[in-house]
Amino acid sequence: MKRILITGGAGFIGSHLCERLLNAGHDIICLDNFFTGTKENILHLMDDNRFELLRHDITREIFLEVDEIYNLACPASPVHYQYNPIKTIKTSVMGAINLLGMAKRTKAKIMQASTSEVYGDPTVHPQKEDYWGNVNPVGKRSCYDEGKRCAETLFMDYHNQNSVRIKIVRIFNTYGPRMQPDDGRVVSNFIVQALQNRDITIYGDGMQTRSFQYIDDLIEGLVRFMDTDDSVTGPINMGNEMEFTIKALAELILDITHSKSKIKHLALPEDDPLQRKPDTSYAKSLINWRANTELREGLTKTIAYFDRLLNS
Ligand code: NAD
Ligand code: UDP
Repeated sequence: MKRILITGGAGFIGSHLCERLLNAGHDIICLDNFFTGTKENILHLMDDNRFELLRHDITREIFLEVDEIYNLACPASPVHYQYNPIKTIKTSVMGAINLLGMAKRTKAKIMQASTSEVYGDPTVHPQKEDYWGNVNPVGKRSCYDEGKRCAETLFMDYHNQNSVRIKIVRIFNTYGPRMQPDDGRVVSNFIVQALQNRDITIYGDGMQTRSFQYIDDLIEGLVRFMDTDDSVTGPINMGNEMEFTIKALAELILDITHSKSKIKHLALPEDDPLQRKPDTSYAKSLINWRANTELREGLTKTIAYFDRLLNS
């Protein structure tokens, strides 16, 4: 049994990770400032005496005694991370420094939730871990992309200079139950619009691509990767290798929901990446992991969740 700190634990991915590690018998400290996370996401865990909730902001120092840290705290939807860009980059950079300091002091193993956004608008396809990316340092997405890139640098430098045990995961677009209806990311937007028979808002012509990973696949990958040997640092890609256009995603959601919604095209946001697809052969060889959930299957479960939520 370990004492595990999960920052951003009340968010979408964090709440699933809290649940998974609590069920495995560990002591969980869930830390969150509730910027995009909610108490509802973790309400069902609160009665367990091995679960502890801390309202805290990772841009501020904190002293805890832990064995492992999963650093997930950071707004992830473009709408939310662009709301206060300076705060977003502080969260990635100052948050990383505070938590790496904790890992150094306690000798805890620490995982960073990095992102496919470190590849920017990629000129190499699919993206492998050795690709350095194509990122605009002064655009609308830079606070997130460059913040996450700097956090990766900090993780690697703490490892090389102070022997901190690190794990860097580059997470590709992930979806599932407990995304917020107003999160702003494409899967939740389209599902909520379809269930409410409102226009489906495709930005641009909808020919840009993404690869969508179901939450359960990611959680399995994160836990397996944390358990690898200390010599393994990553970065490692985690995402589903099936690539879809945004238009095809909209059509699939319309089909599953039998919605009367019409498709409406809006302007494409600045620096919106044209294509994105992970090469996950490293994860396959290292931890025998692949994101297996078909998009239709994962969407059906997610739609059922939102249907319950919107009707409650
Ligand atoms: P989310 O917005 O649901 O969760 C983020 C959580 O972090 C929220 O609970 C929020 O309140 C909390 N938070 C934000 N700033 C904080 C701060 N300064 N101090 C403490 N808590 C703070 O998003 P998510 O999809 O669950 O993403 C979790 C992590 O995974 C993020 O770091 C994100 O960058 C990364 N990631 C997610 C995806 C994805 O597709 N979901 C893809 C790549 C990377
Ligand atoms: N998108 C869209 N309609 C929406 C929300 C997003 O067409 O209502 C597009 C967005 O322009 C991008 C893709 O869907 O091309 C994925 O967007 P998301 O914000 O989910 O994630 P990211 O761009 O960070 O991959």
